[in-house]
Amino acid sequence: MLGMRAHARSRTALVPAAVLVAFAVAGPTSAAAPDTLLPTARAIVREHPGMWAQAVVARGERTIVIGRSARQAAEIAAVADRAGRTVARVWGPVDAVVLVPATEAQAAELAAPAHVEGFAAFAGVGRVIVDPSGFGRLSRTGRQVVLTHELTHVATGAALTGDMPAWLVEGFADYVGYLDAGLPVRTVAAELAEEVRAGTPPRELPGRAEFQSGSVRLAQAYEEAWLMCRYIAERFGEPELVGLYRASLRSGVTAALRDTLGMTLPGLTEGWRDYVVRQLGPVAGS
Ligand SMILES: [Zn+2]
Repeated sequence: MLGMRAHARSRTALVPAAVLVAFAVAGPTSAAAPDTLLPTARAIVREHPGMWAQAVVARGERTIVIGRSARQAAEIAAVADRAGRTVARVWGPVDAVVLVPATEAQAAELAAPAHVEGFAAFAGVGRVIVDPSGFGRLSRTGRQVVLTHELTHVATGAALTGDMPAWLVEGFADYVGYLDAGLPVRTVAAELAEEVRAGTPPRELPGRAEFQSGSVRLAQAYEEAWLMCRYIAERFGEPELVGLYRASLRSGVTAALRDTLGMTLPGLTEGWRDYVVRQLGPVAGS
């Protein structure tokens, strides 16, 4: 999930959702999503048939977007195309169905039992659910960051790996999400920067509860996790960050830190504390 912080034209084919359900989609073009996505999209539409009665479908390079209007679906498919290319560069290719219901309440219904109040989008297994109101309030850059973040979750199977540390799951998704955004660190981590300037830098990495909807330090938790993954990538290299994530999926984060970075979590946390203060503290000379 990603909160409120925070293209190119694409070749997309628009077909009504009803046609998708009726298996009558035209053959894919070279840029179209792989046909393995079509059965998934059909199954998703059938889960809530009433919700998608007026929906339209846009096909991106590796996504199928089910939305409320041709223009909206095509726009989101274009954002997803670019997001998917960023994810592919760092992690590997990702296929997903992107669901854009008409209302926030419908987005919550699709994401249940997860609580998504205040989130612009949510990643499930093979799918991304977009809250149309939250997503609609984002800037163009914000939309790009959010979809890249969520597609990273889909690529890494985050919805299936509940025992991974939240700082690594969310921090990695934000690492990929902000990679091509071109935003200054102090802009992305504005809330955390305020705490650092006030003389209260973070001591420990955020736990799972701090990423829950309604957490008082929700923004700071994401920023702390993002900066940890950015720190790992800068100190050890991006391939090592990716290697850490993959190894953590296999053998848990403690063994993964030892095997991929030669570090313990307390040792890495100490380096991260200094990095956060260096990145967000008072600018030298001011
Ligand atoms: Zn997330």
